[in-house]
Amino acid sequence: MNAMNFTEPEERVALRAAVAELGKKYGHEYYAKQARAGLKTEELWAEAGRLGYLGVNLPEEYGGGGAGIADLAAVLEELAAAGCPLLLMVVSPAICGTVISRFGTDEQKKRWLPGIADGSRRMVFAITEPDAGSNSHKITTTAKRDGGDWVLSGRKVYISGVDEADAVLVVGRTEDAKTGKLKPALFIVPTDAPGFEYKQIEMDLIAPEKQFGLFLDDVHLPADALVGEEDAAIAQLFAGLNPERIMGASFSLGIARYALGKAVAYANERKVWGAPIGTHQGLAHPLAEIKIELELAKLMTQKAASLYDSGDDFGAGESANMAKYAAAEVAIRAVDQAVQTHGGNGLASEYGLGTLVAAVRLGRIAPVSREMVLNFVGQHSLGLPRSY
Ligand SMILES: Cc1cc2nc3c(=O)[nH]c(=O)nc-3n(C[C@H](O)[C@H](O)[C@H](O)COP(=O)(O)OP(=O)(O)OC[C@H]3O[C@@H](n4cnc5c(N)ncnc54)[C@H](O)[C@@H]3O)c2cc1C
Repeated sequence: MNAMNFTEPEERVALRAAVAELGKKYGHEYYAKQARAGLKTEELWAEAGRLGYLGVNLPEEYGGGGAGIADLAAVLEELAAAGCPLLLMVVSPAICGTVISRFGTDEQKKRWLPGIADGSRRMVFAITEPDAGSNSHKITTTAKRDGGDWVLSGRKVYISGVDEADAVLVVGRTEDAKTGKLKPALFIVPTDAPGFEYKQIEMDLIAPEKQFGLFLDDVHLPADALVGEEDAAIAQLFAGLNPERIMGASFSLGIARYALGKAVAYANERKVWGAPIGTHQGLAHPLAEIKIELELAKLMTQKAASLYDSGDDFGAGESANMAKYAAAEVAIRAVDQAVQTHGGNGLASEYGLGTLVAAVRLGRIAPVSREMVLNFVGQHSLGLPRSY
């Protein structure tokens, strides 16, 4: 994005239009039908991959589009705006694709990136642990050296899409040879590795992607399962977490656009007192406020993506957190107000809104909770004392 005129480059505008067409071809009815039947959105994922949309941010030499996270975020936003918020885009191409592109060996890049880019292979991401929660400093999944190899043990929870993934990028810890302290490290763990088990967590979320608890019990991994430097894992982790927040924001923004579009169409059509219900300011003003909040959240998302793509990992952190926060809040408001605008129809399956009530709440919890974003802003943006 050009910082002076606030417009996106022509290529991204064209990308948005093309992705919006693809999204329209499938639409929310397809998405909800697949989710309710316990099925994936396989056809949509495969077509998006074939058209180059899933790997738009990955390097060209490994089958990607050579563009940035801003473009991948535009893809997710447009699909979500068409009623198809593909959660796995947040993890496979955005986190795992980015981390491997930036820090992987040539061999790791060759092995994983072309498949992630065309959608034929998926890698998901596991940091959350049952006992650590938001305090990721407390994670205990630990890798021990076994000659040149690694042996990984631990537990993870709420990991998306494990059943459809070839591998999981697991955030674990290794022991510092000098100090004996544990420090973070990233490992690629194939989902069919002996000792790796996963169990679905039943969720009240209507989504094609399922959530899992992971059990890693002495999982033997080759030396090259480690991504990047053992000593630089924190920086590598942040390189993946900023795209995760930017994509989380885009997921929410797209759903907010979808819900607002539905609410406006209905408010223009439905007549109860002779005039369309959108005539009543009690309905029109909340929709106008949502439009304003949506545009503001989108601007912050574009700023975060632009900073990230310019190589400013640190600067992108604050904007990515703020964007995730603002987008999640407006998406919750948009879906809630769209349901309200529809009256009883708002909760009828035919109108495709009730399906998204839990999905937008997810944006307030993950990938980082609203409160942890506020902690970040309080401490880092405002200079307030740390409270925890
Ligand atoms: C559908 C879904 C998909 C997910 N997918 C993935 C995935 O693919 N990979 C992955 O690794 N994780 C995933 N997660 C996990 C998600 O990132 C965590 O749920 C989230 O980070 C919050 O952690 P927690 O659930 O342990 O909550 P907790 O850390 O237990 O927090 C509970 C509450 O306490 C608040 N809180 C905690 N600490 C503080 C504090 N210091 N100050 C103020 N408030 C505080 C939190 O904000 C929250 O409201 C997913 C979660 C869901 C629901």
